[in-house]
Amino acid sequence: MKQSDLKLDGNAIAGVLGEIFAVEMTVAEGTCAGCGNVAPMGAVDVYVNAPGIVVRCSACTQVLMTIVRGRDRTWLDLSGVRRLELRS
Ligand SMILES: [Zn+2]
Repeated sequence: MKQSDLKLDGNAIAGVLGEIFAVEMTVAEGTCAGCGNVAPMGAVDVYVNAPGIVVRCSACTQVLMTIVRGRDRTWLDLSGVRRLELRS
C-alpha cells in the first residue's frame, strides 16, 4: 500500500468536526499557548468592544482567540490556544 493511498482530504473528518464543535464550549478546558494556564473557556477574559471579539488568558493576558463575524462567514483564530479539552 502506498502512502498516498492513506491520505484523504478534509471532507473525511466532516462528521468528527461536527461532533467536536457541537458540544458546550464554555466547559471545555483551554491551555494557553503563552503561559500554559489551563482554564475552562467560560473563565477567560472577553473583550467585545474590538472590531471582533478578543478572548484573553486570565492569567497572562495573551490573546487566546479572536472571533470576527461577517455577513455570511466567521473568522476564528485559535492560535493562542495550545490545546482544547472537550468532554462528551
Ligand atoms: Zn496565559
